Amino acid sequence: MIPIVPPPIDAYCLAHTTPADPLLDELAAYTHAHCKFPQMLTGLVEGTFLRMMVQVSAAKRVLEIGTFTGYSALSMAAGLPDDGELITCDIDPETNAIAQSFWARSPYGRRIQPQLGPALETIVTLPADNVFDFVFIDADKENYLNYYEAVLPRLRPGGLIAADNTLWSGKVLDPKEQSDHAIVAFNKHVARDSRVEQVLLSVRDGVLLIRKVL
Ligand code: SAH
Ligand code: CA
Repeated sequence: MIPIVPPPIDAYCLAHTTPADPLLDELAAYTHAHCKFPQMLTGLVEGTFLRMMVQVSAAKRVLEIGTFTGYSALSMAAGLPDDGELITCDIDPETNAIAQSFWARSPYGRRIQPQLGPALETIVTLPADNVFDFVFIDADKENYLNYYEAVLPRLRPGGLIAADNTLWSGKVLDPKEQSDHAIVAFNKHVARDSRVEQVLLSVRDGVLLIRKVL
């Protein structure tokens, strides 16, 4: 990931954001030391943004697509009420085991329910009356459009979707690879969709924040 936000600005943002729960710092350090592609981890600024979105929207049920080592899930779970629930999907059992070992050490961990398997298959198996208030899309970029169409009917009116990496290191301006084109097609699809309104935020690698209006 090539940073879009100039690193000194990013450092300034970090310095002026509420410090992380020490367990989140430990999880980030562990991920950097032991995992491939640690840069996939959301981090403090975006993690805090997600938690606050969950809090201000008073979300009770959250769906995450793309768990990795569980940083964003644990961040969002902290913003849920005690009886809130976060379902998070991933295909990787190794990173999932790391995630679960950290969640187990947090008072918010019991709000998180991991689902192992391709997210599109998991979403289909959720009971039809399973409605979400907040969805975070952050798995394979080629499927963003499919994830969006699969979750939108399960999002309550007024509910929010945050789609991560939607500026894709700036490659949206000059798409070459398949994943570049997938993000461009996704952003365009959402922009033309009258069921929603949206704002594309230049936070970290780009966060498309979508609100279901109908
Ligand atoms: N939200 C995480 C980062 C997710 S990285 C954080 O902030 O830390 C993207 C994740 O998507 C990876 O862990 C990868 O295993 C997962 N993934 C890739 N393809 C998937 C699929 N088809 N279904 C579910 N998860 C998938
Ligand atoms: Ca991401």
